Order: sequence, then structure tokens, then C-alpha cells
Amino acid sequence: MIYLDHNATTPLHQVVKSKMDEYCHLPLNPSSVHANGRLAESLIEQARRNIANLVGVQELGRDYHITFTSSGTESNNLILSNYLDGEIFISSVEHLSVYAFSGLYPNVTIIDVDENGILNIEHIEARLAQSKAEKKLVSVMLANNETGIIQPIKEITAIAHKYGAQMHSDCVQAIGKIDINITNLDLDFVTISSHKFGGPTGAGALVSKAKFHLKPLIIGGGQERSLRSGTENILAILGFGEAANIVSQELIERQTHMSMLQDKLETELINHCHNVEIVGKNTKRLPNTSLIITLSKTAEIQLIAFDMKNIAISSGSACSSGKVGKSHVLSAMGYPLEKVACGIRISLGYNNTIDDINHFLEIYKELNK
Ligand code: PLP
Repeated sequence: MIYLDHNATTPLHQVVKSKMDEYCHLPLNPSSVHANGRLAESLIEQARRNIANLVGVQELGRDYHITFTSSGTESNNLILSNYLDGEIFISSVEHLSVYAFSGLYPNVTIIDVDENGILNIEHIEARLAQSKAEKKLVSVMLANNETGIIQPIKEITAIAHKYGAQMHSDCVQAIGKIDINITNLDLDFVTISSHKFGGPTGAGALVSKAKFHLKPLIIGGGQERSLRSGTENILAILGFGEAANIVSQELIERQTHMSMLQDKLETELINHCHNVEIVGKNTKRLPNTSLIITLSKTAEIQLIAFDMKNIAISSGSACSSGKVGKSHVLSAMGYPLEKVACGIRISLGYNNTIDDINHFLEIYKELNK
């Protein structure tokens, strides 16, 4: 199979798998006082340091904490839940694990994006200035999962801080694809997910500035500094840390390779195919994500056709049932429904080759001639 759906999930990196295999036969609970417990604890702390290193945290405990959770979704839920007694400002293109809060709680304000998918800076500044809430959180993703569009997060963070709000960024899609230094960005909270860059599913993290005291969603035995009780998913965390370590070393190489493939894909589509639009073509984007709108065919028809040729892609907006959903992201950017229904997402990985791209293009041209 040609796998072009890396924003959904990525294959487990071979080195990560070997590392997990090495420890999977051992009973490992970091809360135990015996030697196995100490080993488990040291493995978790090593994973934490690897992740800190990947995102530019200088000193764990002094500057930031990293709390292991089960997923990016849980990390997003954890941070937003801590601000439900204040006011929360999110963008209109957030992942559902943030966006869904707006449908449940009246104190979550959605800030619009422009036709390029970039947050309306004047709008957020005006809403923050009006807010009388003592506790405020701005939550804006660094890179969008459907379009790959990158937000001017440093500028947004500076505005949030100017009005006394804390700044959270869902960096799930950005990590492993672009360089991120959360210390330089001055982010207060960051969400990460292991399975988006070669680690296993079942592990996520919330990075938080050490000066903020957060309340847990899950209480119990007091693991993770009492912020996330429950025996740690040691193998997944171990794999998460290993994946972070590998990506720290290979990021530039991966970025260059994916950019080259993305460029080839998009240039060929624009120059040789009819009725094609690449969402956010002239906006800063991830080097692996291309959301392609082809007006003549719905996403559903295209997905099935590619699947039959053993090529895995996705629509801009797959929902949990696997069906093609309506993208709130494209709608927020002002795309009409007939275009929204035609968006397919190609999300590359560092293992993809030029042959994969050529093969995709061949099928695409056949399908859309
Ligand atoms: N945030 C973004 C931007 C995502 O793309 C995803 C998953 O697709 C998530 C959060 C949720 O992460 P997880 O799959 O680890 O729950």
C-alpha cells in the first residue's frame, strides 16, 4: 500500500518498536519500590527528557512540566477544562478535541480565520480587551490537521499575554514536521501526541509552564504530580520518548525530503490538471500536507477509487465513523459546501518516495480526466 495519510497516524518507527520489544516482557510500574519500579521510573524520566529536548524545554521542573496523558485529545481536554471557570478563546479551525468545547460551554468564544485560514488578529485582540474574566485562556493550534496551515503563534501569544490570558497551542500536527521551540514562543501550554511522529498510539503529553497549578481530570493514585492519575502506559511512553529522540536528530532531513515531495506533487497538479485548487497554497504550511479540491468529484468517490488502487488518503474531514464529514475548517475559511465536499488530503511521511507521488498522480489524472 502507498500510505499518504500521515496526519491521521504514522507507522511505528522500527527503532521505536525494537525499544518497546526490549521491555515489553517486564512487569513495569514506576510506583513500585523494587528494582523493576525504579527501572520503570527511569525509563519514563528519560522519555520526558527526550520530549523536553524536542520542544525546546531547557529545565524540566524549573521552566516547564511535561505530563503524560493517553492522547492529544486528553491533553486538550485537560487544559481547556482548567479554564471553564474563566473565559476561553479558540480559533474556528481547531481540532474537535478543542472545538467541541464551544458547543458545550457558553464561555468559549470562537475567533474567526480569514480566507487563508489565519486567525483574525484584530478580532482576538478586541475580544480579549472586552473580557472581564479574571482567568483567560487562548487556545490556537500551531498547524492545522486538514490544511497544514501554520498560525503566527508568536504574535498571538504576545497578544494573549498583553491581556493577561494564558496561551495554549495544540502542536499535535506540527511536532515532527517543523522545528518548535516553546521557550522561544513563550507558550504556557502545549499539546503533543506520540502517534503523529512514529511513536505508538496511547500516549500524549501536556507541556505546561511550571508556575501554573492545574487541576486533574482523572484523580486516583497521584501519578504525574497528581495531575494525571492511573498507572502510566509505560511501553507507549517509552516509545513516545524514543520517537521524540529520533525526530530531534532527523527533523531537518525529514523536512527537506517532505518539502521536495510536496513541491513535486503540487507543481504537477497545478501545471497539468484542470479545476484543481490547493488550499492555502500561498500561505505558510506544513511541508507534508496538501488539501486538494477537485470540483468534478466528491471526496467520497475519490477516496474509494484510491483505496481500490491501494493508495491511502483521506478527506479533509474524516469523522470517527470513517465516513466523509463536513469540514468546519474549510467552512470557516469561507469555502462553499460544494467545494468542501470535494477536498482530499494528502499527508506525507518521511518514508514516502518520488515513486509514491508519481503513482498517486497517475491515478489522480486517470480519475479526473
Ligand atoms: N489535535 C490535532 C491537531 C490533531 O490532528 C489530532 C488528531 O488527529 C488531535 C489533536 C488528537 O490527537 P490524538 O489522536 O492523540 O487524540
